[in-house]
Amino acid sequence: MSKKLAVVAFGGNALLRANQKGTIDDQEKNAYDTCEKVLQLIRNDYNIIITHGNGPQVGNILLRNEAGFNEYKIPKMPLDICVADSQGGIGYMIERQMRNVLNDNHMEKNVITMVTQVLVDLNDPAFENPSKPVGPYYLKEEADLLTKANKWVFKEDSRKRGWRRVVASPKPSDVFNKNVIRDLAMSGNIVIAVGGGGVPVYRHENNYLEAIEAVVDKDLASAILASFIKADSFFIVTDVPKAYVNYNKPDQKALDKISIDETKAYIKEGHFSAGSMGPKIKAALEFVETGGAETIITDADSLQYEDCGTRIVREK
Ligand code: ADP
Ligand code: MG
Repeated sequence: MSKKLAVVAFGGNALLRANQKGTIDDQEKNAYDTCEKVLQLIRNDYNIIITHGNGPQVGNILLRNEAGFNEYKIPKMPLDICVADSQGGIGYMIERQMRNVLNDNHMEKNVITMVTQVLVDLNDPAFENPSKPVGPYYLKEEADLLTKANKWVFKEDSRKRGWRRVVASPKPSDVFNKNVIRDLAMSGNIVIAVGGGGVPVYRHENNYLEAIEAVVDKDLASAILASFIKADSFFIVTDVPKAYVNYNKPDQKALDKISIDETKAYIKEGHFSAGSMGPKIKAALEFVETGGAETIITDADSLQYEDCGTRIVREK
């Protein structure tokens, strides 16, 4: 029997939990636990590609950037380098823990981390309205100076903790090396790719690839990869077993299997918060609307159950 192909997007919880300090020990333990749960998919005949977020980690890299500059005049690195650093660091950590999980379960597989670039278009409307906060909080005066020096855009934090730089979050039109990612996975290797949504780059008029100060939503980039390589399933692993309507209200109801139209109706009714479940539902739709059969939104523990999670399906 030929194996199925799944893209599995790890959420924040896979590496960092709210009640932890976020030390490397914490992160490695979480990574091991999540990888162990993903083993069930391999046992269920899936070849897998793991993608992951990088929010807290790249936030810390940006803080180190500032501290290093202020203390030692180490030149600040641009956002693309910071994202690439985070892909390498996090990917390596997941890779090593996945190797340990495989070893503990007497399974043999290669695990390959790929630093991944994604192609974006400078005409993407997202560039007109930068909205994704990155890096440290600043005082208003500092923010004004940085705006003058670097043409950065700042917005005041909604909880008034200070001013934060915001960057655009464009939709990628391509994932570099997608066919290599697919081939590696289809021949039984575990591939870790598109970390933090990928490093966004654009094609300059002279056809050179250039970096751009932006970030890509990791669930959306994962959906686009899954669609391009014709994955059978797209799993979004987060910290809730399902998506709900009337979330956290007395009449909260778990969603099991929902069609594209039903999903759109629930979005319209405002059931999915903008900064959390909203982007996941959007990414889920992206996959099934571009040919994918199903997106599954669930938590790592539930992966052991065949019918786990909320399933957004093309055909119900
Ligand atoms: P991750 O870090 O795993 O990528 P987020 O923390 O951004 O994911 O989003 C997951 C969170 O979304 C859940 O912990 C939950 O609190 C929140 N959420 C918002 N709306 C819903 C909903 N309708 N159903 C389920 N969870 C929701
Ligand atoms: Mg989270």
